[in-house]
Amino acid sequence: MQSTMQDVPLLVSRITTHGSTIHGHAEVRTWTGDAAATQRRTYAEVGARAAQLAHALRDELGVQESGVVGTLMWNNAEHLEAYLAIPSMGAVLHTLNLRLPVEQLAYIVNHAADRVIIVNGSLLPLLAPLLPHLGSVEHVIVSGPGDRSALAGCRAQVHEYEELLVGRPEHYDWPELDERQAAALCYTSGTTGDPKGVAYSHRSVYLHAMEVNAAAAFGLTPADVCAPLVPMFHVNAWGLPHAAFMAGTSLLMPDRFLQPAPLAEMIATERPTVSAGVPTIWAGLLAELDARPRDLSSLRTVISGGSAAPPAMMRGFHERHGVRLVQAWGMTETSPLGSVAYPPAGLSEEEEWPYRVTQGRLPSSVEARLAGPGGEILPWDGQSAGELEVRGPWIAGAYYGGAAGEPVRPEDKFSPDGWLRTGDVGTITSDGFLTLTDRAKDVIKSGGEWISSVELENHLMAHPDVAEAAVVAVPDDKWGERPLAAIVLKDGKPADYAALRAFLGERVARWQLPERWVRIATVPKTSVGKFDKKVLRKQYAEGELE
Ligand code: ADP
Repeated sequence: MQSTMQDVPLLVSRITTHGSTIHGHAEVRTWTGDAAATQRRTYAEVGARAAQLAHALRDELGVQESGVVGTLMWNNAEHLEAYLAIPSMGAVLHTLNLRLPVEQLAYIVNHAADRVIIVNGSLLPLLAPLLPHLGSVEHVIVSGPGDRSALAGCRAQVHEYEELLVGRPEHYDWPELDERQAAALCYTSGTTGDPKGVAYSHRSVYLHAMEVNAAAAFGLTPADVCAPLVPMFHVNAWGLPHAAFMAGTSLLMPDRFLQPAPLAEMIATERPTVSAGVPTIWAGLLAELDARPRDLSSLRTVISGGSAAPPAMMRGFHERHGVRLVQAWGMTETSPLGSVAYPPAGLSEEEEWPYRVTQGRLPSSVEARLAGPGGEILPWDGQSAGELEVRGPWIAGAYYGGAAGEPVRPEDKFSPDGWLRTGDVGTITSDGFLTLTDRAKDVIKSGGEWISSVELENHLMAHPDVAEAAVVAVPDDKWGERPLAAIVLKDGKPADYAALRAFLGERVARWQLPERWVRIATVPKTSVGKFDKKVLRKQYAEGELE
């Protein structure tokens, strides 16, 4: 039997209209570094300005349906306007990661054929030298403070964001699109090979935003203030801007003030209730708070995702500052919301910890399976470790092939029956708790056994002398690979590797203990703040880590 229900497309424009009317009094606040000068704009104003931006893009700059508009911006109100205007008008929002190596940035702009780039003035020194290599870019729109002289003589037409909006209609008849059309484009950070583009549909953005708003994830309400510390160029700030506009949740944007001290100041002053960021951000904030405590009691839900959250850091926040970090897992290809680690009900605080340090449980829309080395499907017994594969309405089924190209489905990324191969290795319990032991490429293969680099790191980072620890596989004549522990010590602490080894020896099997130890000043980080183990392996191979 066919259903009798209406088939209404799920479009970003619905989110834009809903947020700016029903929740017109909610606001986006942009931190300026000065507590007295926070920029405030209501959702009604944001909606009106998004309409003006869409008019400017279409009428003045000639952006058509499916035209790609890049943003090279911090988290701020104007970026939110772009997030709403560009997909709502039928064009494609392409967020550019300002921390990518410049060659990769040029690669993704050219691959996606961005016609327009909206850029924050403070980022012109990054964009201007690249422009001669960006053949498709016809217009650059500059927003916010920053020296414009870097753009002198550039081939693209330059516009001022605010001037472009002035006098344009504050209403736009958003087109009725096919919900499967692309709304936004996001490239993976290219840890191996060229970055790959994931084109999110209106439908996937909409459904994902609803899940972000579910109580089992962020549970956003109109009473909340949400501070996405995760950049809007990192998997759409995990869907929070669209989700907040949908829920009528006010947003607190850190702009370019992502260092621990201003973040602590911003949270203590503006009192957000919800926040999200990668473990590196939280680790920096924890060190800042330990040195100079602030009142963070406004925070009720704080999500850490993007790489494994060290349990010692989670405990540090909880026990010393009363902040409860919740771990979540996801990736560019999963929009990114995958699993969230809320413990089952009815447990004591201590009993909750074994659940909180897992990667958590998947929502009902995302299915998971574990594939063994030969592709066989493994049981959910909490023991059998395999590669995590997922599928669902906001999971990528292919990568964007470029303007003229077909979508690409590399065999190592998609199974023959269409599931996404995540490259993450782990176990799942019978009640659905996922524990990732490693990324497939970071696992240490020692004499036919696997050693989890993440497990060794988590134990090492629980040692009082250790600020950060990264463990990587290095070649070994006898065992194939062995772990190398690269340690960042806290100020003034001795490099007592025998003591660290003994500490680790109480927590993992003897054969897993590293023989090789080095002291490093900081762990190299990727463009989104994750441990860059590729760099460490290279440094070791080149004899730089002795
Ligand atoms: P990239 O793949 O370029 O690093 P992504 O941001 O898409 O960019 O990274 C996704 C990957 O990050 C996942 O496949 C996983 O390995 C890792 N990751 C994300 N969240 C977690 C988490 N909570 N615990 C462990 N690993 C995580």
